[in-house]
Amino acid sequence: MDREFGVTFNSTPTHDFRALKDFLEVLCSDKAQEALQAARASEDADHSELGLSFLRGDRKRKRPQSPVGSPQPYVPSPPRSSSLFASPEDDPPSMRAESLLEFVREFNRGSVGESKLSTAAAETDTTLAKCKLVIWSRTKTMRDELKAASTNNGARRPLTSPVVLRFMIPDVLTAYLSLIFTQLEDPLVVESVTAFGPRERKLPHEQSDYLAFQGLSQHIAKMILSHPRVPVQILMNVLVSYRGLFVDRCTSCQRVLSAEGHIPPVARIWVPKVVADAKPTASVETRHGTDQGGGRWESRHTTCLYN
Ligand SMILES: [Zn+2]
Repeated sequence: MDREFGVTFNSTPTHDFRALKDFLEVLCSDKAQEALQAARASEDADHSELGLSFLRGDRKRKRPQSPVGSPQPYVPSPPRSSSLFASPEDDPPSMRAESLLEFVREFNRGSVGESKLSTAAAETDTTLAKCKLVIWSRTKTMRDELKAASTNNGARRPLTSPVVLRFMIPDVLTAYLSLIFTQLEDPLVVESVTAFGPRERKLPHEQSDYLAFQGLSQHIAKMILSHPRVPVQILMNVLVSYRGLFVDRCTSCQRVLSAEGHIPPVARIWVPKVVADAKPTASVETRHGTDQGGGRWESRHTTCLYN
């Protein structure tokens, strides 16, 4: 006799039999049978397979065999590029630190950046401000030396990293670009860009008091993050595209100020020519010098960026 088995029963077999008989009587009674039938009918009518769902889940987790025995083809996500720039293969070569002074001179002469962009529009539209670029320094002596170096071909003061550029669009904005390099023959890397109101007196590492310029700085920071090695020339083109900041409409919602927050379109998105030509409404707003070979920079509100 298994002693443990015996423990679950009552002390005498006679007692146990009686209990079992009583239970059978109850089970076979009309009331109990009715209840059991109702339960069965209800279970049949319900297709939710109560209590079995965990089993189904388990079965699902096992990857079903592909009928052709090969993996499904990879479907690329929709063309919402993580970079806001044109594809990096189209970039010009990165500017070297040793070429920066020359670039600044050329820029102020109008032979790079803005002038390369539709000159005809710039000439006919006198409301377009003339952009200016200088190498910025905190101390006046350094500033004068740099100014001398960047305005004539005379004695060059060697640049030290980081070098800060001050970009100005009169009555629109001032932006500081911090560029880093290790050696003069190395390409310049854009470290940061901060934008301010034209009359704000702030240092490059500070923040504008205006939401519009805070948003602009944040947008450019995102752009740099999406393309950390963006050539300085490309970023200058982006900055030049802000000349119409307070008059250009957002190419998505067609408003100058955003519905929420009343901020001008501080975001920029590169629209390749093929796509750009398919959107006739966008051409009027972006006629101001944002056209470049292969596409153009379109003005958008940050909230309209992907609309
Ligand atoms: Zn908009």
